[in-house]
Amino acid sequence: MNPSLLQEVPHRRFNPLTREWILVSPHRTRRPWLGRVEKTAAADLPQYDPTCYLCPGNERADGARNPKYASTFVFDNDFAALLPDAPPFNFDESGLLIARGEKGISRVICFSPRHDLTIPRMAPHEIEAVIAIWIEEYQRLGAIEWVHHVQIFENRGALMGASNPHPHCQVWANESIPVVPVKEIASFQAYRDAKNSCLLCDYLKLELQLGQRVICENEAFAVVIPFWAVWPFETLLLSKRHLASMEEFSSSEAKLLADILRRITIRYDNLFETSFPYSMGFHQRPTDGQAHPEYHFHAHYLPPLLRSAIVQKFMVGYELLNNPQRDITAESAAARLRNLPEVHYLDRK
Ligand SMILES: [Zn+2]
Ligand SMILES: [Zn+2]
Ligand SMILES: [Zn+2]
Repeated sequence: MNPSLLQEVPHRRFNPLTREWILVSPHRTRRPWLGRVEKTAAADLPQYDPTCYLCPGNERADGARNPKYASTFVFDNDFAALLPDAPPFNFDESGLLIARGEKGISRVICFSPRHDLTIPRMAPHEIEAVIAIWIEEYQRLGAIEWVHHVQIFENRGALMGASNPHPHCQVWANESIPVVPVKEIASFQAYRDAKNSCLLCDYLKLELQLGQRVICENEAFAVVIPFWAVWPFETLLLSKRHLASMEEFSSSEAKLLADILRRITIRYDNLFETSFPYSMGFHQRPTDGQAHPEYHFHAHYLPPLLRSAIVQKFMVGYELLNNPQRDITAESAAARLRNLPEVHYLDRK
């Protein structure tokens, strides 16, 4: 087959992690785009906001007062979606109305006392402090007997529903393994059974060899736009070593994760010269007491922006009813991100 067909004609691409398909329509990007590329005014955030419930020393919704923290700060979410004392139950009406009790813990991690300091503008040692807290929370929550999965994720920007611009992430610890991780674990396992190898080790090797979809890399990590990406500038961050969670990091790997997080998020901000919104999260080995030799640590960045700081991709119609669809190919999106500088646009002026 002529590989240039992937840039020219409608086709489907397979996601081996979830074993689902997406529709790609590259011919549509030849439609002329007459609109201008909008920029949003840089949100001029103060370093400290007296009304922010995440800033040091301020009062939170439940009346608790934040300490005057100087680095990171972690606490139980005052509006937790999950509760550790939710009662267990099994509901089943005719095999059609099925429900189960679900215990969980939701935590909030502030990255820094600074109200305005996002990951791409933090110093490497400040990001390393955040990674140390991620490892600590993953281990501490994962060690709880009934916690079988720990999800660390960040919603950045109002477009992603972040309720507060103060840079922070959440950690949700669950009794059951959620839907997407269940699919991925089954795929890792099936691949290992069939090929006696790791799905993401083999995938990363192939991507580094081809180079077409690689955005950036260091000795321990690489970031690619996956072949099967759904969101226009979706990326997958992969460890080069076959490891299952952050707790297996060497000290140099923790430093190199800080380096790669900084570099990919600077590129994102530079793309439309805006504080780039996204949901991102780490996928790590479930904490269900099994060894999970099949599991390969990775992170997904899922940004909604398409063409400018204000034009976003929506999942509607065909996509909600069938499967996702994209116009711009993973390869052309990768070329755009790869060609951007790794100096933040606000630090260049
Ligand atoms: Zn704040
Ligand atoms: Zn692997
Ligand atoms: Zn994943």
